[in-house]
Amino acid sequence: MRIIENILKKVVLHEAVVLEKEFLSSTVIKIRLQSDDFSKVNIIPGAFLRLGIGIGQDQLSMKDKIRSYSIWDYQPSETTVDLAIATHSNGIGAKWARECQTGDIVYFKVKKGNFLAEDTADSYLMVGDLSALSHLYMLNRNIGKNKQVASIVYSQQKSELFPDIDGSTPLNFYELRQNPSLEIIAKIKEITPTFKSNKMVYIAGDSRVCMTLHTYFRKELGWETKQLKTKPFWNPIKKGLE
Ligand SMILES: Cc1cc2nc3c(=O)[nH]c(=O)nc-3n(C[C@H](O)[C@H](O)[C@H](O)COP(=O)(O)OP(=O)(O)OC[C@H]3O[C@@H](n4cnc5c(N)ncnc54)[C@H](O)[C@@H]3O)c2cc1C
Repeated sequence: MRIIENILKKVVLHEAVVLEKEFLSSTVIKIRLQSDDFSKVNIIPGAFLRLGIGIGQDQLSMKDKIRSYSIWDYQPSETTVDLAIATHSNGIGAKWARECQTGDIVYFKVKKGNFLAEDTADSYLMVGDLSALSHLYMLNRNIGKNKQVASIVYSQQKSELFPDIDGSTPLNFYELRQNPSLEIIAKIKEITPTFKSNKMVYIAGDSRVCMTLHTYFRKELGWETKQLKTKPFWNPIKKGLE
């Protein structure tokens, strides 16, 4: 394991330092990372970091070495990136967010993925839970001006949901139980008839919700695959995801 970790550290991953840390709500922690290497990679809206938070901890299995976190904001002049980490999971990622301190080193890789801001539609729906909120904020800021945006962002307690980086609250918050696909579909039925023909939906967070809604949009509403952007962030029967 040591050899693999050394290769990861020296060849694959970059090094960042924890610059700031603050609680955004009772269960979400904002972490600001600084690395000169952020300026060497192309950070686009919707990109995320793979953090090697378990590297150096010999007792952890390989699948507990890495967790992914969305880039909520990037400040190129300071070469800093902000993350918002939900801690309901109580796993290695949540533990790292709670315990890390300013000055700590963490290893990272920037990943582009395909859950990116696209400005091609006129109407957008954004759906996600607490873990996906920072990613949805980033997308919302980067889909272009004068768009129709509807949103369903939920958590079991509304007070856990936090404002965007500039203090604004452009997305609609709901207090819903875990895996609330039926309640979300009821809201979608109210929202989508108001949409223009050129429309897109972003769905992220709980994999059960992602799957149910993807099927609903495809089969019941007849939306095309290219109009559906889905990204499962976590799965109740798995640890980590990417
Ligand atoms: C592309 C991508 C971007 C992501 N961005 C973010 C982000 O910006 N912020 C963020 O908080 N997470 C994000 N995640 C999820 C993150 O990578 C971790 O999966 C999550 O933080 C849980 O890690 P953990 O080690 O704490 O728990 P794990 O050890 O992975 O899981 C422990 C248990 O908690 C459950 N669990 C995991 N997440 C949740 C949750 N949110 N609510 C309730 N139960 C949960 C798991 O199913 C498992 O049963 C992202 C995932 C992906 C794939």
